[in-house]
Amino acid sequence: MGMTQPAISPPAGHRAHRFGDVVSVVRALTPGYPVYCLRPALIAASARRFLSQFPGTVMYAVKCNPSPMVLDILYRAGIHHFDTASLPEIAQICETYPDAQAYFMHPVKGRAVIKTAHRVYGVRYYVVDHENELAKVLDETGGGPDLTIVVRLKTERADAVLFNLSSKFGAPPDEAADLLRRVAARGCRTGLAFHVGSQCSDPSVYRDALALAGRTAADSGVGIDCLDVGGGFPAYYANMQIPPLEDFMAAIRAGLKEIDLPPTVELFAEPGRALVAHGCSLLVQVQLRKDDRLYINDGIYGSLSELCHADIRVPVRLIRLDGRPAARLRPFVLNGPTCDSLDVVPGTFDLPEDVREGDWIEIDQLGAYSNAMATRFNGFYPETFVEVHDAPPAAAS
Ligand SMILES: *Cc1c(COP(=O)(O)O)cnc(C)c1O
Repeated sequence: MGMTQPAISPPAGHRAHRFGDVVSVVRALTPGYPVYCLRPALIAASARRFLSQFPGTVMYAVKCNPSPMVLDILYRAGIHHFDTASLPEIAQICETYPDAQAYFMHPVKGRAVIKTAHRVYGVRYYVVDHENELAKVLDETGGGPDLTIVVRLKTERADAVLFNLSSKFGAPPDEAADLLRRVAARGCRTGLAFHVGSQCSDPSVYRDALALAGRTAADSGVGIDCLDVGGGFPAYYANMQIPPLEDFMAAIRAGLKEIDLPPTVELFAEPGRALVAHGCSLLVQVQLRKDDRLYINDGIYGSLSELCHADIRVPVRLIRLDGRPAARLRPFVLNGPTCDSLDVVPGTFDLPEDVREGDWIEIDQLGAYSNAMATRFNGFYPETFVEVHDAPPAAAS
């Protein structure tokens, strides 16, 4: 294999074990540790769907799930552009996929990091939301016409998202227009980006954000060379009624039409959650039952932090090797393994009423912000991945 050939297999040691279904995983490993069960076909299908519907370049937001196996599945499905936010993410992408593009989409970066991203990894797109950050990027890269500086715009609607991503980053429109003028004055390509917030449930939020971007670009007097509509596209969790992806794309097309940009403007999106959430479940084991409380081997400091911060409900199913669980269900509370009393998943999960120590529970729709956010608190760290090819619990509910 030549040097320029992208390596599409994870390093040995991280290689997936492949199984037909999750029950086979339990039989083969009888795992006392949590196991991420990836469903490559689901991840690839959501990537291809997004690629075919979005009218521009699709970057995957690496932070959402940086597992080498997930990145390989996305790469093979045709995702060759990546939204990165740190030097380790940039290195992971550029060293694994030499023909892929990494974009530096974090509005606050260390000077040495900017310099290394530019000189060593050839990164040419940088996000800023403040004049001092712009000065840093220009200092460390030298600026010039092959550099695109993308100004992150604060969006105004937080009503339809689970996680607001405009409270910490993003310039108000007048400051963003001023930044665009400064970028243009330094001879760099200009861009605007926004992130409406993660798990957006209302397509019109994108249309409104595009209108704001259009006004900002016009007010700047210098126009833009690229426009990035960010991430935020929803996953279809069990407790949410959300319009289909087609409606979000229709809102984006309508928003673009209204602002009537020149056809040369490059268009980007940065989906994370929408591509990977439903393509991975988590297999945990019950270690102790106290009445309606189940103590399991993963929790909010591991893979389940999102279930703690937001009203996300995901399907579960019980797996028992020796015998059949009761048909009747009752609600149980899931307690995590760490010593912290906070380590309890809010709400209850319906499971067979006779659930007992040693049973496994498959918790579905955990591909986004799970392994990515896991800590090593108390010595618990979920890090085993397998591939499975059966239908997920969500398909049955
Ligand atoms: C987190 C993030 C994303 C991905 O967001 P999702 O809601 O997972 O789609 C995209 N872009 C930026 C700048 C982000 O911070």
